[in-house]
Amino acid sequence: MSDDFFLFDTERLGTLASEDTIKKGLSYFIENRVFALDAQENMLLAQVEGSKPDQPYWVELLRGEDGQLLVNCDCASGRPVCKHAIAALYSYAEQAGNQDGGEGIGNTMEEAIAERIKKGRNEVKVKLIGGNLGFGIWQATSLVSATHWQRSYQVHIRSLDARMNYCTCPDLASNRLGTCKHIEAVLHYAKKRPEYKKLKAKV
Ligand SMILES: [Zn+2]
Ligand SMILES: [Zn+2]
Repeated sequence: MSDDFFLFDTERLGTLASEDTIKKGLSYFIENRVFALDAQENMLLAQVEGSKPDQPYWVELLRGEDGQLLVNCDCASGRPVCKHAIAALYSYAEQAGNQDGGEGIGNTMEEAIAERIKKGRNEVKVKLIGGNLGFGIWQATSLVSATHWQRSYQVHIRSLDARMNYCTCPDLASNRLGTCKHIEAVLHYAKKRPEYKKLKAKV
């Protein structure tokens, strides 16, 4: 994956499709509809969940001979680059970004967790959207510094002290740490609240 042809920034994405298509592709990506992403040298393959969850669209992105992007997608939208292709490109960019970050590999677990605590404090905004401080659902929005894309994930807090919380982000799904910067951001925020001290006093 040394070839960065499929790594599109916001500006380059803007040359591919209409603003509306890009917006739809982005929301597909945020909703975690892209799976089975497979990057090869001149080809990017993915499945993208459409309106019917049991019938994902297969999308194939190719690097043309003249260095242009070619798209084959099941949706036959008639557009040269459809929202499924855009969603796949966002997903690829995220994967590439995670690799560049050097997280996980070569780090001890403590270092990896410390990194997420730091990022949670600096890069993530949180908002309680359901339940309460110690047991609730939060929206965590993170800023990707290199590209400034805002991403929102849902954090489900089950405990403010034990590692039994859940987040919809791909990092938590793959890092085996039991936490991610979104969860750490919520914990950091929650533990500063006056309600937290009351909660602790009750226990
Ligand atoms: Zn499509
Ligand atoms: Zn997360």
